[in-house]
Amino acid sequence: MRIKETKQGKTLAVELSGDLDESTEKAFAKLVVPPGTDSVTFDLTGLRKINSIGIRHFINVLGRIASKSALQLVNCPATYVDYCNLLTKTLHAELVESFEIPYACDACQFESRPMFERSMITDGQSPQKMSCLKCGADAQPSVDLTRYLEFLSLS
Ligand SMILES: [Zn+2]
Repeated sequence: MRIKETKQGKTLAVELSGDLDESTEKAFAKLVVPPGTDSVTFDLTGLRKINSIGIRHFINVLGRIASKSALQLVNCPATYVDYCNLLTKTLHAELVESFEIPYACDACQFESRPMFERSMITDGQSPQKMSCLKCGADAQPSVDLTRYLEFLSLS
């Protein structure tokens, strides 16, 4: 896994890319939050495979940082959301600001994963109708939304 840190004023942006697995312990050990950082944002766009060992390392990192700075998680992939539903409290699911929802087209089965902001979700429903990027027909969530979005209501 690769970690890219960008400091802007009192905010630190941390981009994770690659696999969140047993190899991540070393990468996280090098992650240092500079003194005077008020807020840390993890961008998970580039994450690929995620396993429970990687999640355990990430929980440690989140705990370490959350005690000192405000923290948020953006662009969380669907596999990460699955872990949020399993480990809502330990994984600090309340810090998730934006995340994918998997969609599939009714007509051609084309799959897409648009990103949603937490504030766009009301009553456990995705906010708008999606059209297939390939053929334009209606696309529907390919997950059970009530279960998939459960992590949002428990914060
Ligand atoms: Zn289609």
